[in-house]
Amino acid sequence: MRDYSLADATRDAMKKFDIRASKKFGQNFLIDQNILEAILDISAIDKNSMILEIGPGLGTMTKQLCERAGKVLAVEIDKGLINALNINMSGYDNFKLINDDIMRLDLKSLLEENFGDTKSKVVANLPYYITSPIIMKLLEEHLNLFSITLMVQKEVAQRIAAFPGGKDYGVLSLMVQYYAVPEIAAIVPAEAFMPKPGVDSAVIHLKVREEAPVSLEDEALFFKVIKAAFGQRRKTLLNALYGSALGLGKSQIEDLLASCGIDSRRRGETLSMDEFAILTNKIWLFLKK
Ligand code: SAM
Repeated sequence: MRDYSLADATRDAMKKFDIRASKKFGQNFLIDQNILEAILDISAIDKNSMILEIGPGLGTMTKQLCERAGKVLAVEIDKGLINALNINMSGYDNFKLINDDIMRLDLKSLLEENFGDTKSKVVANLPYYITSPIIMKLLEEHLNLFSITLMVQKEVAQRIAAFPGGKDYGVLSLMVQYYAVPEIAAIVPAEAFMPKPGVDSAVIHLKVREEAPVSLEDEALFFKVIKAAFGQRRKTLLNALYGSALGLGKSQIEDLLASCGIDSRRRGETLSMDEFAILTNKIWLFLKK
């Protein structure tokens, strides 16, 4: 006889609790046990692990997280899933559910209240409509995290992990790589979900850095320079920076780039993080005068 699969369990749970996958909340439930295990493995979860799960859905991954981890705190926005989740998770006393929008929460306080000083790990099959804002919130708030393991759209994973020179390299690559070291752990076909999304996905593991990879005078200015350089991707660095919110004159930009040994005819997508840091620190010095 065929094994009772995650697909069967998902179908049965949706029927039992009269749940229809909500497009608005990006609900594509994971039904592939191998992929689920790949997520748990790359996150290196054991009984000491404190986990924040974003969007537990019907609780498929949540159960397996609770089996392996010390504690699991899950944040689910959809009121319509809370009853099913509470019933599905009733056997686990290391599980806590919060019915809220992850974007509205003060995550630093939440993690402190639930996990004290212990570093935690984020695990999530993210809703694709809000992937980048969630990732940036997790990173920019300087939370006490070891790692963030996420299922995201394949193209987003490729952009996050991209190196200088390619078409995928951009603001998202640099912003994420400033805070974390990314690794694509698996490419996931649409068949791994119910309902099937219109795109392929990938599991990306972000090892959160203990220290910044470059030394900066002004972090906010660094991101402003990066956004300016990629604001008009097809333009040279000189023209992209000139037309940007930095408010610098053309000859000033030419001088600043020359003082960093960066050819002004290059495009933003060819600059490494180190080069962006050197340029930012020069601009900072210039603006300070
Ligand atoms: N973890 C489940 C799984 O793997 O089968 C569900 C993943 S589904 C792609 C995304 C989940 O995130 C849904 O349960 C959805 O309701 C929830 N979600 C969407 N937006 C959210 C938000 N802003 N805050 C918290 N949860 C959210």
